[in-house]
Amino acid sequence: MKKITFILALAILVLPGCKKEVKSDNPFFNKWDTPFEVAPFDQIKALHYMPAYLKGFEEQKNEIKAIINNPKAPTFDNTIKAIEYSGQLLTKVGRVFGALNSAHTNDSLQAINMEIAPLASKHRDDISLNDSLFQRVKSVFENMDKFRLTDEEKKVLDDTYKSFVRNGAALSPEDKEKLRGINGELSKLTVQFGQNLLAETNGFKLVIDKQEDLAGLPEGVINQAAAMAKSTNLDGKWVFTIQYPIMEPFLKYSEKRDLREKLFTAYFMKGDNDNARDNKAIIERIANLRIERSKLLGYGSYADFVLERNMAKTPERVFEFLEEVWAAALPVAKAEADAQQELINREGGKFKLEPWDWWYYTEKIKKEKYDLSDEITRPYFKIDNVIDGMFYVANRLYGLVFTKKDDIPKYHPDVKTFEVTRDGKHVGVLMIDNYPRQSKRAGAWCGAYRGQNRDIKGKMITPVVTMVTNSTPPTGDKPALLTAYEAETLFHEFGHALHQLLSNSTYPGVSGTSVARDFVELPSQIMEHWVFEPEVLKVYAKHYQTGEVIPADIVEKLERAGKFNMGFSTVEFLAAALLDMEYHTLKEPVDLDIREFEKKVLDRYGLIPEIKPRYRSTYFNHIWAGGYASGYYSYYWSEMLDADAFQAFKETGDIFNREVAAKFENEILSKGGTRDPLEMYKAFRGKEPGIDALLINRGFKAQP
Ligand SMILES: [Zn+2]
Repeated sequence: MKKITFILALAILVLPGCKKEVKSDNPFFNKWDTPFEVAPFDQIKALHYMPAYLKGFEEQKNEIKAIINNPKAPTFDNTIKAIEYSGQLLTKVGRVFGALNSAHTNDSLQAINMEIAPLASKHRDDISLNDSLFQRVKSVFENMDKFRLTDEEKKVLDDTYKSFVRNGAALSPEDKEKLRGINGELSKLTVQFGQNLLAETNGFKLVIDKQEDLAGLPEGVINQAAAMAKSTNLDGKWVFTIQYPIMEPFLKYSEKRDLREKLFTAYFMKGDNDNARDNKAIIERIANLRIERSKLLGYGSYADFVLERNMAKTPERVFEFLEEVWAAALPVAKAEADAQQELINREGGKFKLEPWDWWYYTEKIKKEKYDLSDEITRPYFKIDNVIDGMFYVANRLYGLVFTKKDDIPKYHPDVKTFEVTRDGKHVGVLMIDNYPRQSKRAGAWCGAYRGQNRDIKGKMITPVVTMVTNSTPPTGDKPALLTAYEAETLFHEFGHALHQLLSNSTYPGVSGTSVARDFVELPSQIMEHWVFEPEVLKVYAKHYQTGEVIPADIVEKLERAGKFNMGFSTVEFLAAALLDMEYHTLKEPVDLDIREFEKKVLDRYGLIPEIKPRYRSTYFNHIWAGGYASGYYSYYWSEMLDADAFQAFKETGDIFNREVAAKFENEILSKGGTRDPLEMYKAFRGKEPGIDALLINRGFKAQP
């Protein structure tokens, strides 16, 4: 905002009487005159980022200087609010860069990221380790009662103060220097980890040139592999990669056990191949730096440091929670493995079940038991229909309307753009980007090119939200037909999107999804409860060719199969969550042999060899580079909340109950991080959440 005023002032000086704004060559320095002021992606080039970042650092530095040099005594407005609204240009460029570097990266963006990461880390440290600034913040914090603050302002003040302390503001000058060194090194290692991982994922191809090696694969999967071959100049062959949506169908259907082994081994050895892209040494260094950092700040471990700000509060509580679910899930997973081994024996296979067999035999048993497979349901999950379905749910619950608008800028032709309104009033913009490509990182996520908040004058700023997935793409003349899991993933990310879209806060730091890590998946995971409700399916799950609504018997099978393979998915997840906690509760720097550490931990919990953790250490992006360090448990913690919260709808006998929806919006979705999570939850539900709904939800406990 500051920059724009500056440009305007200049324009008036140079061209008196002329009100026309002088446009910079760099789009980040201009006000965006696109629909809803969405980033003008077609004008933004790689060369614009660095100058925008540098200018952004500079501007915020000056803003901070002005706060410190203010001769007046520190107040909420002249200190806390001023900090909240500083760095607008940095936010503007950072959001665009961060989002595109994940969803549509290239070598230039990656090089810029490598260069920017340490600069940004230094910039953040310059602010959070500035003693004069901290003294002002501290003074406001200690005199909190003297200012007439709203609840939201009190929370912003508390967050700001604690964030300074947690970032080292109260340390001696010597320790501050040490901390800076650690932060700088960590930021570089983190980027390196992610880049190695992307290179490892893109670096493996399973090329098939014999028709017989395609045995068992459905036609759609074969076509996709042929298209992949074509795009990599391997015409006439078939290419499979270790991108999950391409690998998974292969594991499910390929009758070629040796090829399944080859593909899955490449997947779980990512970053662990002792080559130039190996992540083991990087992980060891990150883990140790985090220990040093925590000790410097006075915490026993990195987990102690992180969890203090979460709903769970302590590592002990997290372990207790994880172990309770683990104990319920492990026997179920073992029984699932036994059932597969029995099938192998029955078929005369003389081998022991291995991790690369799990998907294949699970699929067979599922077919046998429920007469259900992904290929049976796919035709009913055309991507556009699923999207219509989630819009329908949001409309029934919250009265939101989604209108496709093609004049909104996009960064890739695959992106779909919507205006979101309620009662005819603009709410925000939603972008949806669904298919895998080399420039996109794996997984699914939701972010915002602009977050909701009110500007310094109180004017509402509406959000620009983006959902990114790696779902089955269209092939040939077939539209994108999703697996049930992919449909669920869409609903999940859409839940995050709603959290952003319905946010109604004043300050940017506490808006939308800026909530505790173990609370943030509540709004997303609760949406997963609607996706397969018969009432919802009949609205959107229509055959892509005939338009026929999904038959009742398939709906019933979906419902029955809903808890199928739950032992596996719970155990594979918890194994990763436990690994995360074990790394981050280390109390002293150690020599870490990553393979050995991983094995020791998993053996201790009794993970069966037929199951690999959902993420092995060397490709566990969430915890090394994705901000989920000692936070991966959060998904299940949130599930405890969402399973319990969905009961609030169920108990009324109406999954679209508007009163409950209004309460969920008012107490949770609109509140962002303006309140303590447990308080928000209790305000919605009238009580604390219990673990039962989660265990029942996963089939580990009988419905009472
Ligand atoms: Zn999520």
